[in-house]
Amino acid sequence: MRIVVASGKGGTGKTTVATSLALVAGEAVRFLDCDVEAPNAALFLNPALETRQEVGIQLPVVDEALCTHCGRCAKVCEFHAIAVIGKKMLIFPELCHGCGSCTLICPEKAISERLDVMGVLEGGKTPTGLDFAQGVMNVGEPMAVPILRALKKWPPARPFTIEIRDAPPGASCPVVETMRGADFILLVTEPTPFGLHDLKQVIGITRELGLPAGVLVNRNGIGDNAVESYCAEAGIPILMRIPMERRFAEAIASGKTLVEAAPEYRLLFRELLEKISARVAA
Ligand code: SF4
Ligand code: SF4
Repeated sequence: MRIVVASGKGGTGKTTVATSLALVAGEAVRFLDCDVEAPNAALFLNPALETRQEVGIQLPVVDEALCTHCGRCAKVCEFHAIAVIGKKMLIFPELCHGCGSCTLICPEKAISERLDVMGVLEGGKTPTGLDFAQGVMNVGEPMAVPILRALKKWPPARPFTIEIRDAPPGASCPVVETMRGADFILLVTEPTPFGLHDLKQVIGITRELGLPAGVLVNRNGIGDNAVESYCAEAGIPILMRIPMERRFAEAIASGKTLVEAAPEYRLLFRELLEKISARVAA
């Protein structure tokens, strides 16, 4: 079972929920930190990161001696990342998606490829036995999706029964990529107008992808009832509520997970997992 923990905006407690869910889910758990621009789940789960692999995309390299400037490569590129101007070839690496179409279509075999390293994958075991992996994007890289694809495909260190993906914040392409192939999306929000606005955006993505979703209301008690009313009207189940408590914020600031700071929440997170399993099985 693959569960994505997502939220429409940063700072709602997504990683807090994802890490605690992982810690109560048993031993055969794989945890993927998909927030490749700013991964931070390792701060709470403390894995020993022993394996590392560079990832990126294959950029075209044109051999000018072979090129006849026929323009087929430019025509096939739907991202406008390659252009032929007279007798000059131009490649725009920041637009290239590494799809390889230009290499395949070139009649002169004038295009080869080189790996453009965009980031790294890192993996290892946590002290509690979780199989942990994260993607880390190089500073200034424009595209997170190739790293996410590689992270999702990275072979697990051992077989798993549950995979928990900590999604990037927001509602853009990296979130969509994180959700692809998942069985359930747990949406973490807070009961405020901003929380509701961002929640609606990610719910839109889950509907487009046809994925079942449920909501966890974090910092329950602040704000208003608009999230509750919206979920009731839209038929989206609220699976758990976590109240606003100072001790949670203090624990998280000191690098502790919620279930370590408040062991009574182990049972509540296990119940959350059972609710998710039942919805996936239905
Ligand atoms: S398809 Fe090949 S030969 Fe034609 S312009 Fe591109 S690189 Fe040159
Ligand atoms: S690899 Fe794909 S995206 Fe990149 S230049 Fe070639 S056709 Fe365009």
